[in-house]
Amino acid sequence: MPQLTIFSQLADELAQRKAQSLYRTRRVLDSPQGARVKLNGREVLNFCSNDYLGLANHPALIAAAQQGAADWGVGSGAAHLVTGHFTPQHTLEERLAAFSGKPAAILVSTGFMANLAVIPALVGRGDAVFADKLNHASLNDACQLARADFKRFGNNDVAQLERLLAQSDAKRKLIAVDAVFSMDGDIAPLADYLALAERYDALLYIDDAHGFGVLGDGRGTLAELSIDSPRIIYMATLGKGAGVAGAYIAAEQVVIDYLINTARAYIYTTAAPPLLACALHASLDVIEQDTERRERLQAHIQYFKQFFATELAGTGCELLPSDTAIQPIIVKDNATALALSQALLDADILVAAIRPPTVPTPRLRVTLSAAHSTAEVALLCEQIKRVLLECHA
Ligand SMILES: *Cc1c(COP(=O)(O)O)cnc(C)c1O
Repeated sequence: MPQLTIFSQLADELAQRKAQSLYRTRRVLDSPQGARVKLNGREVLNFCSNDYLGLANHPALIAAAQQGAADWGVGSGAAHLVTGHFTPQHTLEERLAAFSGKPAAILVSTGFMANLAVIPALVGRGDAVFADKLNHASLNDACQLARADFKRFGNNDVAQLERLLAQSDAKRKLIAVDAVFSMDGDIAPLADYLALAERYDALLYIDDAHGFGVLGDGRGTLAELSIDSPRIIYMATLGKGAGVAGAYIAAEQVVIDYLINTARAYIYTTAAPPLLACALHASLDVIEQDTERRERLQAHIQYFKQFFATELAGTGCELLPSDTAIQPIIVKDNATALALSQALLDADILVAAIRPPTVPTPRLRVTLSAAHSTAEVALLCEQIKRVLLECHA
C-alpha cells in the first residue's frame, strides 16, 4: 500500500471500528435469495432478508424477467425523459397508481433514489421538513440534500411534531416518515400525522419500504390503517416485499408531473432495465391474487411472538413490540449481538446483528418470510432460546 497519510487515517478508523465490534464485512451468497441460502458453500436458514413474501426467486417472476429480456433487451439505454421510458414501465406505473388508489405514479430505480428525488424536489431553502429521528438513512440524507430547515422529532412523538409545526413559519412544510420502522418493526402513527398535516397545511411523505406487499392486503400501510388524502405522497420500494428492485411514488397528478420535471435523482439517471418492470408486473399479479402468502407470514409472526412471550419471558431479553415481519431482539452490547449472531450461524441459522450507527441500540434483527415453513420458524425459535440461555448462563 502506498504510504499516503490519508490511507493511514482510513486504516486507523477501520481499526477503531474493529475494536468496537463495529467493523462490517459482506457475506457472499452462492444461491438465489430464499428461506435457505448457500453461504460459503454451506446451506443456512435465512432470517435476515426483506423478501417477506418469498418472491425474489418465484418462478412466475423469473419467467417474466426472461421474457422481458427477450422482448426488450437488458439495458434501457437512456434516462426516462430521453428514450429510456418503455411500455412495460409505463403500464406498471398505471397499475401501481390504481393499486395505491392514487391518480398517478412514477417508477424510480431504488428506494434510496426515490427519497433523494422527492424531498429536494418538494422543499428547499425557506421551507421546512419534519422527520422522525428513527427514519431510514436515505430519508435523512434526502432531508439534508434539500437544504430546507430540517426538524427532527423523537420516534413516533406526535406531540413534539405538533410543537415544531406550530412554531414553524416556513413557506412549505413537509412531514417525512417511515411507515414501518425498518429496524424496529412498529407502524408509525400515520393517522395522527395526517391530522397534523391538515391542521398545519403540510404535505405528508410516507416511505412504505416494509409495508408494501405485506400489509393492507398487499396495498401497504395506508390501506392497513384505512387512511388516504391528496396531501399524502406515497413511496414504496419494490426490492423487498415485491421481490425485484426499484421503487415507486404515487400521488396527485400535479405532484407526479412536478417530479418528472424537477426531481434530479429521477431525471439525471439511466432508467432501470425494462425487464425489471416485466418481473414487477408478475410480482403485482402475485401480490394481488396470492393471499395465502400473507396469511402464512402472519402465522409465522404470531408463532414467533407467542414463543418469545411464553418461552423467553424473564430471560432479560427484550423483543420489541412489533406486529410486522421485522422482529428485533434487543441485546446488551455490540459484542453480544455479534456473539449471538455467530452462535446462531454455527447452528446454520442466519440472523443479522444490527449495530450503531444503523440503530441506537444493538440488536438481532429477525425477519420472517412467507418463504419459511412452520418447521423452519420453530427451529429458529428453539435455537434462539438455546443461544440466549447459554449467553445468560
Ligand atoms: C430499504 C429502505 C429504503 C431503500 O430502498 P432501496 O430500494 O433498497 O434502495 C428506503 N427506505 C426504507 C425505510 C428502507 O427500509
